[in-house]
Amino acid sequence: MAPYVADWRGRYRGTAACVIEPADVDGVARAVRVIAARGGRIVPQGGNTGMVGGGVPGSDPAVMEVVLSLRRMNRVRDVDVLDNVLVAEAGVILKNAQHAAREAGRLLPISLAAEGSAQVGGVVSTNAGGINVLRYGCARDLLLGLEVVLADGSIWNGLRRLRKDNTGYDLKQLFIGAEGTLGVITAAAFRLSPLPQAQASAFLAVPSPEAAVRLLRHLQSELGDCLSAFELIERVCMELVLGSISETQSPLHSTSPWYVLAEFSTPMKGLAIKEMVEQCLTTAFELDLVSDATLAQNETQRAKLWRIREEITEAERRHGPSVKHDISVPVSRMADFLAAAPAAVLAAVPEARPLAFGHVGDGNVHFNVLAPEATADRISAVVYDLVAKLGGSISAEHGIGRSKVALLPRYKDDLSLSLMRRLRATLDPTGLFNPGKLVSMQGAAAPGDMEPI
Ligand SMILES: Cc1cc2nc3c(=O)[nH]c(=O)nc-3n(C[C@H](O)[C@H](O)[C@H](O)COP(=O)(O)OP(=O)(O)OC[C@H]3O[C@@H](n4cnc5c(N)ncnc54)[C@H](O)[C@@H]3O)c2cc1C
Repeated sequence: MAPYVADWRGRYRGTAACVIEPADVDGVARAVRVIAARGGRIVPQGGNTGMVGGGVPGSDPAVMEVVLSLRRMNRVRDVDVLDNVLVAEAGVILKNAQHAAREAGRLLPISLAAEGSAQVGGVVSTNAGGINVLRYGCARDLLLGLEVVLADGSIWNGLRRLRKDNTGYDLKQLFIGAEGTLGVITAAAFRLSPLPQAQASAFLAVPSPEAAVRLLRHLQSELGDCLSAFELIERVCMELVLGSISETQSPLHSTSPWYVLAEFSTPMKGLAIKEMVEQCLTTAFELDLVSDATLAQNETQRAKLWRIREEITEAERRHGPSVKHDISVPVSRMADFLAAAPAAVLAAVPEARPLAFGHVGDGNVHFNVLAPEATADRISAVVYDLVAKLGGSISAEHGIGRSKVALLPRYKDDLSLSLMRRLRATLDPTGLFNPGKLVSMQGAAAPGDMEPI
């Protein structure tokens, strides 16, 4: 049972009475009814790649927690090229869902470094982002429908394929990003996009985050939607990867304090995208937004560029403990954040080593600090206070889970928290799903005593 009761980094551990792995939606519904009748609690679990301990049970001996793994619900039910829709069960691994779409000549654009293990249910429940949000949006933007088992064991069939449906509240939205606190997602319908016909990937040296943001807007105004990913990488991240991950090398001859990995693609056949990117980068050089650049000439080179970005998390893990912050600020404040945050952290913990990388085109960076575990609270307080001051969010894409549940009340307003609690109590009046995650119900009134929403 060990892999089910701890997360992949070994940061969160718990205990479970058992692990249940239903093979279909009726099995999930039966499991929910049986566990509820016995006073148990359910922790829905997908690929267990989450960063915030949301899919790991707690360790309170007074609470009987059962891990409900969706692993066996791994069927792609349908790929419809007229509706441009893929319907997949919750346990389908994201990479397999992408593959099924590609086989049908379509693109499922959600893409993240954990896609070989993360499952559809987990991706939906965390409203996962990834590298293509800039162009295609988060999971929420790509979902047309959901099938969900509710706390009373009923099966809500919201597996619609409609682009337009104004018949009232958009109920599926409640379950997206709910981190398994409102129901068990058993299947999802995703909208698909045309498959790119041509791609270009560029690794660029940029003098500063401010230049990176200006470069982002320059590329978008010249190439529009062709820009699908724009990842900022601080030099220290590159050094960590080159120093600890085999068969990696710097794509550029020069060194720079910051790099950008940008990807461009088009579904239009015959569009000379590489030439267009080259032209656009020539202007970027003239504007001093870029000091060095390389364009991948083939798929192998492209994979090597992306490997540098994707291995940062692993390289960081090999280096030792780090205090992670998955934050967002308005894109216009990104440079301010990246200038102020390291200084604030070093003032609080002089031996710390901050680093930043991530989806800067979405205003989202992973601002991680190599530092002893004991300094984590001090560092995070400084970082999150700065984020709040800049109008940002303490969790851009990883969610709240266990790790930030105590922090949420400090950074979310009282009315929002109250609405979240009342919603949770309405859909799950006995507290069956994922106790202790996302929003604390401790001290909340019993459902019947709560103010109506
Ligand atoms: C190397 C690496 C890179 C990553 N990069 C990104 C990134 O770029 N963008 C990003 O957004 N995330 C990223 N992540 C985080 C993680 O991969 C995503 O959050 C992913 O969506 C989680 O999917 P999972 O199947 O592993 O879910 P799990 O970790 O198993 O669960 C996550 C949450 O969803 C709930 N849940 C799972 N399945 C269901 C279900 N069927 N019904 C209801 N609730 C459910 C769980 O209870 C838990 O709260 C990364 C992780 C790693 C390890």
